[in-house]
Amino acid sequence: MRIVLLGAPGAGKGTVAKLLTEYDGSVQISTGDILRSAVKQGTELGLKAKTYMEKGELVPDDLILEIIEERIKAPDCEKGFIFDGFPRTINQAQRLKELLKSMNLKLDAVINLDVPKEVILDRLTTRRTCSNPDCQEIYNIKSKPPSPDGRCLKCGWPVIQREDETEEAITKRLEVYNEKTAPLIKYYMEEGLLHNIRSLSSEEIVKEIIKILSESGNKTC
Ligand code: ADP
Ligand code: ZN
Repeated sequence: MRIVLLGAPGAGKGTVAKLLTEYDGSVQISTGDILRSAVKQGTELGLKAKTYMEKGELVPDDLILEIIEERIKAPDCEKGFIFDGFPRTINQAQRLKELLKSMNLKLDAVINLDVPKEVILDRLTTRRTCSNPDCQEIYNIKSKPPSPDGRCLKCGWPVIQREDETEEAITKRLEVYNEKTAPLIKYYMEEGLLHNIRSLSSEEIVKEIIKILSESGNKTC
């Protein structure tokens, strides 16, 4: 499958993307994970992205498109990809379309995870992330706690609250989402690709996405 997961921060894009990769071997491409890993490793990309990320602002489109172009040309993307956290601006979406066209590919669907604002706020403030850059498993102190001493159940690294998950940064990220990313809903509606999903559980969302893809005659799944 070749899809985009749209939705506010905390809508569950990461969790849903991970579940979908188990379905048909498509890879998850999370620009947020790629950027965080670059920041941790102190690479040139990381240094450029760090200040934007800490403030909850968007990293410049040129930098993001460079990452995406390199990533989708990697051999493991042949079976398909699930974009999570990309595109975030109309410009990114237009440039993605051109890039895919140059590779003779197109998107199968764009899924908007439509989650009420109160649920989003609650999830973001209770969210914790594994500090291992190669793992980044997501936890929630209420619904999916790490080990009693605060460690990742998958890899044992400490589970932390992300720097951009302070109340101030969360408010900023939601503002940025409303201003820059929410317009993509209309953009993809006009492209005839948008599907809106209102379910809350990730398992239900995954089922709905698979149904949408099979109904739209997707051949890769
Ligand atoms: P969220 O939980 O807000 O969806 P992400 O992990 O997707 O968080 O992204 C964290 C940060 O990384 C964003 O606040 C932004 O600074 C940067 N970022 C991630 N993806 C993009 C993108 N496609 N365009 C611009 N900035 C991005
Ligand atoms: Zn881990």
